[in-house]
Amino acid sequence: MANMSAVDHVQLTLKSEFRFKCHKGISCFTKCCSNIDIMLTPYDVLALKKKLGLTSEEFLEEYTYTQTDGKASFPLLYLRMNDDETKNCPFVSAEGCTVYEDRPANCRYYPIGQGTLKKAADDKLVDEEFFFFVKEDHCKGFQESQEWTVASWREDQGVDRYDELNRGWKSVLLMRNVPEMALDEKKLMLFYMACYDMDRFRRFIFQSRFLDHFEVDEDSREKLRSDDVELMLFGFKFLKYILMMEETLKAKGKK
Ligand code: SF4
Ligand code: SF4
Repeated sequence: MANMSAVDHVQLTLKSEFRFKCHKGISCFTKCCSNIDIMLTPYDVLALKKKLGLTSEEFLEEYTYTQTDGKASFPLLYLRMNDDETKNCPFVSAEGCTVYEDRPANCRYYPIGQGTLKKAADDKLVDEEFFFFVKEDHCKGFQESQEWTVASWREDQGVDRYDELNRGWKSVLLMRNVPEMALDEKKLMLFYMACYDMDRFRRFIFQSRFLDHFEVDEDSREKLRSDDVELMLFGFKFLKYILMMEETLKAKGKK
């Protein structure tokens, strides 16, 4: 959630310690909520659209823009700042964040940044998370005395749940620099829909011939009809299948 020039290149672990406090009385209050690039995760979209009472299409249209990233041109979603001289986040007010309980994962992490890389372990590649500080001149929180580890900060900010739910999507994103993964127009549309546009993805499953082609038992169908989080997790499996990363779905008639 920040200007990359503010990234401190020291790599942190869950045990790394730091001092920080963000509160309403601080002189920089809400200064971090304008003119920033906030990448949204699939679960961020679910939480925010629910909070705002919007469909996924309405939320995406009103609050986001997309950029493609990496050699494989994966679509990444960002929160659109107000199109005026303030460049404020659409959710910031003088009182603070108006969607605080549902703020995006990157806002929860701040002033920590987070990344994931593939690492060899026991003869196979596993995804490993790493962390770093984002230190911007305007942020006075580092001058406060409250002590944290990265792990206790994550827990306090409720970001561990977000990371858990977004794990399948993050492991797909790690492939974005693999040229063989390059998305054609159809895959790009499917990728965007399965990650971010849950209402359209649900219609795609139930109103197209999708269920004629894939085995999905009745219990799972019921969950996909009624539960956005289950649908999102199914979307990550669908992505891995169409990108030929894993046989996560079973085509009908295939042994
Ligand atoms: S969503 Fe909330 S915390 Fe994040 S930038 Fe906007 S106002 Fe700030
Ligand atoms: S202390 Fe940092 S995170 Fe908190 S309001 Fe100020 S700039 Fe934002």
